[in-house]
Amino acid sequence: MNKILVTGGAGFIGSHLCNRLVAAGNDVLCVDNYFTGDKRNITHLLANPHFEMMRHDVTFPLYVEVGQIYNLACPASPVFYQQDPVQTVKTAVHGSINMLGLAKRVKARILQASTSEVYGDPEVHPQHEDYWGRVNPIGPRSCYDEGKRCAETLFFDYWRQYRLLIKVARIFNTYGPHMQPNDGRVVSNFIVQALRGQALTVYGDGQQTRSFCYVDDLVEGLMQLMESPAECTGPMNLGNPSEFTMLELAEQVLKLVGGVSRIEFCPLPTDDPRQRQPDITLARTQLNWQPRVALEDGLRETVAYFRQLLRV
Ligand code: NAD
Ligand code: UDP
Repeated sequence: MNKILVTGGAGFIGSHLCNRLVAAGNDVLCVDNYFTGDKRNITHLLANPHFEMMRHDVTFPLYVEVGQIYNLACPASPVFYQQDPVQTVKTAVHGSINMLGLAKRVKARILQASTSEVYGDPEVHPQHEDYWGRVNPIGPRSCYDEGKRCAETLFFDYWRQYRLLIKVARIFNTYGPHMQPNDGRVVSNFIVQALRGQALTVYGDGQQTRSFCYVDDLVEGLMQLMESPAECTGPMNLGNPSEFTMLELAEQVLKLVGGVSRIEFCPLPTDDPRQRQPDITLARTQLNWQPRVALEDGLRETVAYFRQLLRV
């Protein structure tokens, strides 16, 4: 049995990862400061003797004994990461230094939840791991994008300097149950708006694209990357290459939810990337991983989750 630390384990992706790791027979220590996480996401695990929850902020050192670390702690939605940008940078950078220091002391393997945001508003399409990105260093999204870029730098410095066993996953837009209804990300926004009979807020002309990965596929990819051979450090794109415009997404949600909602066009946020699609050749060849859940099926599950949560 393996003792595994999941930082950000009460969040959206983290809670699904904790589920899978416990179900696979591991001992899981979940660490979270509940900034964007929710106790509801992990309540069902609390009675399990193989699961433990600790309230802790990763910007402070942590002394525990574990064999693997999944470092997911960091707000991921633009609404929340821009609420306290200094704390976002601290979480990405100080949090990584603390977790890398812990991994070094206990000789644990450590996986970083990086992001497609390291590519910024890309000139290369689809994005492959060799592309260095086009990121504004001083804009409202920079606290997240540059924080995550610096975290990647730290991971590779610990690897070069200390031969630490690192894994860096560049996660593309992921969705599914346990997203916060108010976190402002597009999938949760559209579904919640449609369920409440409100207008779906499409930013800009709705022609910008994203590629959406269902959370079960993503968690499978993260676990496979963690278990991969030592030389397989990444950075590795994990995401679903099927690409949609935001208007197409809005139409899919309207079709699934039914009801009376219409589409309302709103201003495009600053530095909003025009297009995003992962090149997952590396994950396909090194992990034999690829997403399996089609957008319509994943959206159906997510709609059912929000229907129950909001009781509508
Ligand atoms: P989330 O906001 O639901 O989860 C993040 C969790 O980290 C929350 O539970 C939050 O309370 C916790 N947290 C934040 N700051 C912390 C701190 N200082 N100390 C301890 N805990 C802290 O977001 P998510 O979508 O589950 O994302 C998880 C990780 O995956 C994040 O690192 C995010 O950057 C990365 N990621 C997510 C996506 C996506 O589409 N969901 C895409 C790319 C990368
Ligand atoms: N978006 C939108 N309506 C919303 C929320 C977001 O049209 O209510 C757009 C947003 O401008 C972006 C895309 O959806 O182009 C994805 O936004 P999200 O915040 O989910 O993720 P990110 O921009 O970080 O990829």
